[in-house]
Amino acid sequence: MSIKRAILLGRFQPFHLGHLAVIKQILSEQDELVIGIGSAQASHTEDNPFTAGERIMMITKSLDHEGIPRDLWYLIPLVDVGNNSLWVSHVRSIAPPFKTVYSGNPLVKRLFKEAGFDVREPPPFNRSEYSGTEIRKKMFSGGKWEASVPEAVTGVIREIGGLERMLDLRKSEKSVACD
Ligand code: NAD
Repeated sequence: MSIKRAILLGRFQPFHLGHLAVIKQILSEQDELVIGIGSAQASHTEDNPFTAGERIMMITKSLDHEGIPRDLWYLIPLVDVGNNSLWVSHVRSIAPPFKTVYSGNPLVKRLFKEAGFDVREPPPFNRSEYSGTEIRKKMFSGGKWEASVPEAVTGVIREIGGLERMLDLRKSEKSVACD
């Protein structure tokens, strides 16, 4: 019997409870999951504060904490490519083989549909709060972001001085804008 293996693509800036719910939902439908960390080259900006390695720590520690066995999932970093029509081949050239793609991102869905993949949209889990954009906004403004991420993510952000980094980024991006 062939293994049902799917991929979930995301930036995970940061990994949050919506992503975790999506992963659990996918693993109830599939045998194995590849988690592709997109924009792996990006870090230290307001939209992409965390490195690929830091995002790998957030996801690994969160899934371990949930007791999701390691032989059910693979984590791979994926750098962006400057040409959207080559991106699907780029992902396929790096990821373990997969037949199904889970994404709510319109561009990701379009590119994989055109390449003939089975594309599925995960149901939304509290999107108003479990959203990378909203969580980053709260981190910048001193809001309560911790309730929207797994405990393990709070631990990683504390370990790397993530909040201080973000506040410095905001200062430096503002001072660049004033130049
Ligand atoms: P994301 O971290 O915002 O989201 C990851 C996935 O989780 C998405 O499918 C999203 O719909 C889903 N999700 C998030 N919150 C949810 C919630 N509360 N409930 C249910 N689902 C939720 O990442 P993204 O923006 O989708 O990442 C796509 C990646 O693919 C980016 O890194 C992008 O650069 C990359 N990409 C690259 C190219 C290229 O290099 N040419 C082209 C297309 C996409």
